[in-house]
This record gives sequence, C-alpha cells and structure tokens, in this order.
Amino acid sequence: MEVVKPVKRNVLLNPGPATTTDTVKYAQVVPDICPREQEFVDLMTEVRKDLVKVVHGDPEKYTAVIFSGSGTIIQDVLVNSLVPANKKILVVNNGAYSARIAEIAEYYGIPCVNLQFPNTGLADLKLVKEALDKDKDIAVVATVHHETGTGILNPAKEIGKLAHDHGCIFILDTISTYGLIPIDIEDMNVDFLMSSAQKGLAAMTGASWTVGNKKEIEKSKDYPKRSYYCNLFMQYDYFEKVGEMHFTPPVQTIYALRQAIKEYWEEGEQARWARLTKCWEAIHKGMEEMGLDSVIDKKLQGHLVVTIKAPDDPKFDFFKLHDYCYERGFTIYPGKMFGLKTFRLCNLGVITHKDIEDFFVVAKEAFKNMGLALPVK
Ligand SMILES: *Cc1c(COP(=O)(O)O)cnc(C)c1O
Repeated sequence: MEVVKPVKRNVLLNPGPATTTDTVKYAQVVPDICPREQEFVDLMTEVRKDLVKVVHGDPEKYTAVIFSGSGTIIQDVLVNSLVPANKKILVVNNGAYSARIAEIAEYYGIPCVNLQFPNTGLADLKLVKEALDKDKDIAVVATVHHETGTGILNPAKEIGKLAHDHGCIFILDTISTYGLIPIDIEDMNVDFLMSSAQKGLAAMTGASWTVGNKKEIEKSKDYPKRSYYCNLFMQYDYFEKVGEMHFTPPVQTIYALRQAIKEYWEEGEQARWARLTKCWEAIHKGMEEMGLDSVIDKKLQGHLVVTIKAPDDPKFDFFKLHDYCYERGFTIYPGKMFGLKTFRLCNLGVITHKDIEDFFVVAKEAFKNMGLALPVK
C-alpha cells in the first residue's frame, strides 16, 4: 500500500472512530469500480471470510453479513430480524449501548424484557436466570460485551450460557471489543456478534457486520419482516447467491477494511491486546500522577475505556480541557452516563502507551492553565 503523503496524525481518545494508519486511509484511493464487477465480489468474499476468522468462527457454522452504516445499523438489523412472531427479546442492560438495543426493540414494537442494572456495575446473573425461568416467550437474549459508555466488561460467556440453557439465541454487541479483545465466538456461547469498521479494526466508518450462526439466519427467513433495508435474511441470501450486498456497498470503505484486516493479521491478536493493555495501564498511571479517580472499579474494566471523575473544583471546565488537548492533536470525550462531571479516555485505535504519555503531558499543562494544582487532591 502506497502512502503518497503522510496525513496529520491525531490521537483519538474518543470511543470511536479510532486513530487509523495512513496505509488504511490511502487504501481508499483506488480506480473507480462498479461494485457488481467480479473483482469487487472477490474482494467482498475475501473480507467476509476474514471477518469470521478474526473471531475464530467455524466457516461451516458462521458467516459474516455486512451492511452499509455505522455500528447502530447492525444492532437494528439483529434486533428487528431475529425475534420470531409472538416471542420476546430480553436485554441485559447495564449501560447506554444495551439501552439502545432495548430502544430499537421498542421502535419496532417487539416485546422486550428490559432488565436494568446500575450502570456502574455488572448484571446480577441470578436475576437474569430468574427472568428466563419465568418467561417462556423469551427467544432472544442480547447484551453488550464491553460498555463503551463506562468501560465495563460484561460476563458475556456466562450470559450466553444462560441463554442457551433456556433455548434462546444469544446476541452480543462486540462493537468495541471485536479486533481488540481476543474473542472465540463459539466458546463464548455467541450466536450473533456485531462489529463496525471504524472501531477495533481501525478502518473507516461506513461498514458494519454481524458474524452469525448460518442455521439461525436460515430460520429467520420465516420471522416477521419488520424492515426492508435492514433485514438480515435478505442480505444474507443475496451474499449467498451472488456474493455481494443487496444494495450499493460502501465501496472505498471496503478497500480500507481489507487493508485494516491485513494490518490486524500482521500485528497479531495477542500482540494487539498487549499493546492496548499497555495503553490502558499508561492511562491509569497518568491519572494517578494527576490525582484523578476512575468511576468504575478497575477490576471491572475491559482495558479499553476509562471513565474519569472530573475534579470537584469550579475551576475545572471540560470544554477548556478538551480544546487545549484538541489543538495539540488529542481528542477526549465527555462521559456518557454521568454528564460533564466525568470524561472518558478510550484506547481503541492504532496508538501506543507513548501516545498516552504524550497526552498526559498536555493534559497536565491544561490543568495548570485552568488554575488547578496537581495532583488535584
Ligand atoms: C460505537 C458503538 C456502537 C455503535 O455506535 P455508532 O455511533 O452507530 O457507530 C454500538 N455499540 C457499542 C458498544 C459501541 O461502542
């Protein structure tokens, strides 16, 4: 892949899109092509196979189905396509992204058992089991692997086991863990997972997919058709018959995705996980030096997002901190569930612990500029 001219590098510490390589950016610059050409069909086929391989899926059992859109489109697709008539979906909800799954069900008028738990901790699995024991109409269990809103890593495998013990399929939103935390789809009891190009694989926004159980997709053929553009079986069937998306794919985004997958294999699953864990450790080290605390118990964190308590001082202004860092190439993000009294640092992209150390140099300057003494406590 040729890099014609290096692009200004920004370190994105927001919850996606993530910092990408120049080789991924430039992979989009290709001769114009009609996506119905065999050359593009071959590219799609190769990418779909790789997307199953990233999560160690058995290609006999699992397939990847891609849609055009940001991550939410694949939440929409799975929720609207996989609940049989007169059946319910149960959402294990301890954060903003599982709340979104429940909200999608509500928009489609799909009966939903929305099991809410505090968003600072884990779900109580006894209550999940009780809910499943009690209600035999539940056919689908859905939750989020890593709550990007807080940084909590949920016990997905255990929730998937409960789902299967009760004859339900298990849908897992892995949008902020796919390509970051090593995942073995079958071992984790997952029937359908979700991912989006601009997150873990550090590619471009515009393509999202599920890796899903082929038999279950085939079954869904006879489920209520609640959406046209976002119907899973229709898209799957098209891929099976002609090897491509039903409607126009995000052509250039797919080229970037192929390059990002190549870079994923080159780095390696374990090496990537180790690099990101080092970033996360550097975040905690920087916070400690500054006297900042995290909202979520460190033991519950997935090594990818830290929600930080803002200093309890009227001189602290998140926007000033944001702007000071932004002008120097670092993007930070407000907290999702706790308002501006918190902010988040996310280490999802192609960054290293060195970038985090550089960020803290800038953040410390910003704090001093606001008139805050360090450490803040
Ligand atoms: C980013 C994200 C999504 C999707 O958000 P989009 O803005 O639509 O890309 C869904 N779930 C999780 C856990 C996420 O991190």
